[in-house]
Amino acid sequence: MHPSLDAYAADDDTQRLIAAMLGDSPVVEDLQELTDTIGGRVTGSDANEQAVAWATDKLRQAGVAVSTETFMMPATWDERSVSARISGDVEFVLNSVAKPYSPSVSRLSARLLDGGFGSAADFERLGESAAGAWVLVETPLLDDDVGLGGLFGLYGDSRTFETNATAAGAAGIVSMSPYPKNLVYRQFASHGAQNELPLLVIEREDAQRALRLLRDGKSLTLSATIDADQQEKRSSTNVIAEIPGASRPDEIVLFGAHLDSHDLGTGALDNGVNVAMLINVARQITRLGLQPQRTIRIALWNGEEQGLVGSWKYTVQHKDELDNHVVAASFDIGSGRTTGFFTGGRPDLVRLVNSYLAPVAALGPFQQVDAPVVGTDNYDFMIQGVPNLVAFQADANYASNYHAESDTFDKVDQQQMRLNSAIAAAVLWGFANDTARLPRQSNAEIRALIDATDLETQMRNFAVWDAWADGTRGRHD
Ligand SMILES: [Zn+2]
Repeated sequence: MHPSLDAYAADDDTQRLIAAMLGDSPVVEDLQELTDTIGGRVTGSDANEQAVAWATDKLRQAGVAVSTETFMMPATWDERSVSARISGDVEFVLNSVAKPYSPSVSRLSARLLDGGFGSAADFERLGESAAGAWVLVETPLLDDDVGLGGLFGLYGDSRTFETNATAAGAAGIVSMSPYPKNLVYRQFASHGAQNELPLLVIEREDAQRALRLLRDGKSLTLSATIDADQQEKRSSTNVIAEIPGASRPDEIVLFGAHLDSHDLGTGALDNGVNVAMLINVARQITRLGLQPQRTIRIALWNGEEQGLVGSWKYTVQHKDELDNHVVAASFDIGSGRTTGFFTGGRPDLVRLVNSYLAPVAALGPFQQVDAPVVGTDNYDFMIQGVPNLVAFQADANYASNYHAESDTFDKVDQQQMRLNSAIAAAVLWGFANDTARLPRQSNAEIRALIDATDLETQMRNFAVWDAWADGTRGRHD
């Protein structure tokens, strides 16, 4: 079917590029500037605009052609302040944050109920008492041992309890942080910008204390104020670097990472590390004077944390070029060892990636996971039928610092970041110089992929199903 699949062989340029990725570079200094100096960079914030200017300058200084592409966010959300306290039989102040797209409320005071894990059975037990009450929901502990699986589970559980609480007419949900030691975190409301339910996250220890008291029969009232800046139709910016192809410039190989972050920490594992890595890949290709056969684009996305928006808008703005996108790859799982790639349910893509990884075999072993994955910027390419990848990385400390105050520069494994950058560069260079390519999938093929996998559940968990189902996102022709 694809006779040229086996024809790819690594050449001297590949070896030079890999050596450059492993050698001296300003990649660590770049990451430190982005995280320590600019800090957390929520889409729509001043810090986010500083990050756009910073990334543009870095690429320009490296001699890479770079442009900015403005797009409209359907909505943005930024927390100004949150306060919550328990009163009644016992009084104490809660360490709390709001989930993005929680509505603002002023001193919303209501009885606090033990909502168990927020399942249908839990809400059945609460019955009519849930109406008008704050419902406190438990979550399983998420640490380095639980890792990414626990994180995906949390998205599914959250959709369940937020949906059940809405149906029960609850005043709001208070969910227990999955992290120990007073750490709170942010997680996008399960229904995205459509969410109307006040949603708090409180530290695990406070939640456990409140649950013990409730289970001892104490009566507790929760009073909370959430002040958030939610705006509609605000513009944001993707940063797109381009290295033109020598012989097939209209064929595009796109590698991306999101520039935006949440603001509790400084967005180091999620996702400054991969932004710095890709800037350095573009820098080294340019510094070495390497010329790819296909055009390379490095995309630094915005609006990822608020609904995977920047990459979605790119697929709209570049609609006429999508047939010529050979691959779109996304890097978004911190600094754990790259163990392979999610290849989206396309066995031919596994074969290509395997061959491009051969020059960095010493950094393996590698194992591709041929399943579609939702949750980062490959998503809109997937539902547009473009071959897409997500770097699959060892959990390391990604899940245990996810969207939390602890996601800071010191958490990044600098040596592994360099090794990962060599792996990314080898795969990028493989795609950029091979002649093999996979066809873009039709709407029928995309629907078949959804039917054959758990894609629909993943899409619902990340609040992107409706926009696919109503034709707003994805390929429908
Ligand atoms: Zn991310």
